[in-house]
Amino acid sequence: MTAIGFIGLGVMGGPMAANLVKAGFEVTGYNRSPAKVRRLVEAGGRGAESAAAAAEGADVVITMLPDSPDVEAVLLGDGGDGVLDRLAPGTIVVDMSTIRPDVARSLAEAGASRGVRVLDAPVSGGEQGAVDATLSIMVGGEASTFESARPVLDALGRTVVHVGPPGAGQTVKAANQLIVGGTLQLVAEALVFLDAHGVDRSRAVEVLAGGLAGSAVLDRKAPAMLERDFKPGFRVDLHHKDLGIVTAAAREAGVAIPLGALAATLMASLRAQGHGDLDHGALLLQVEQLSGRSPGE
Ligand code: NAD
Repeated sequence: MTAIGFIGLGVMGGPMAANLVKAGFEVTGYNRSPAKVRRLVEAGGRGAESAAAAAEGADVVITMLPDSPDVEAVLLGDGGDGVLDRLAPGTIVVDMSTIRPDVARSLAEAGASRGVRVLDAPVSGGEQGAVDATLSIMVGGEASTFESARPVLDALGRTVVHVGPPGAGQTVKAANQLIVGGTLQLVAEALVFLDAHGVDRSRAVEVLAGGLAGSAVLDRKAPAMLERDFKPGFRVDLHHKDLGIVTAAAREAGVAIPLGALAATLMASLRAQGHGDLDHGALLLQVEQLSGRSPGE
């Protein structure tokens, strides 16, 4: 049996850790807010009082935290109190958060200097994918480490692909967020457009989904947007973070992303209006506002 330390039990990490318990792994979890640790214990896992305690004695440590500084704080710590310093050589660390590719590369180097094998393995598929264990998992790191971690990753996702060296998983995830952010904005625009023309939007979405305009974004996001249900899901704050990663990485590579840059500005604007805690489907609210329309008008 593989012992897993799981750090970060939020919207995604909570159900992922529970799925690892279901798959027969011994899971010890830690989260900053204790209520989320209790949920894992109810699901059959063990609770820990610190990140270090969750990682203690683990064969595999998984992090599922909001942003690059959170992952650095947990793994590197401040002056030697990070998780990496406490792990036995050969332990595998799988960071499944979405963070900057350059930070993922430096964490892999920090691990290697301590004999710890680090993978970047961000995910796509949203909360539902986490609950159903159907995530797409894009993995950067050594091929041999990927093979060792594969049974754990297979318990979390349906499409698990080794995409290249350290940082490559995060680069692929950035491309994912570029596509999702741009598509979601267009879905929001289409919904407001259809409404303004008095078309039954549920029927419209049904037929759109069967044609070239169909997409996982339309399938999974339009129903809640039509219900005006903006409970996250995926928070605007997090997508704003990801589009910052995309625009910086595109600039670094000299790649023009005109539509991506506009999508990033629109997401930033939604956040600046105080909607950072809503699901990113709330882009709908902004299109309505830009169009001078209120719901049901
Ligand atoms: P979340 O905010 O729901 O969960 C993050 C959890 O980490 C919270 O429970 C928080 O209390 C905890 N945390 C923060 N700092 C901590 C620390 N130092 N020690 C222990 N716990 C700490 O976020 P989420 O939606 O689960 O997203 C997690 C990551 O996955 C993000 O990088 C996000 O971009 C990515 N992601 C999210 C989705 C989605 O649909 N929600 C999809 C794909 C990828």
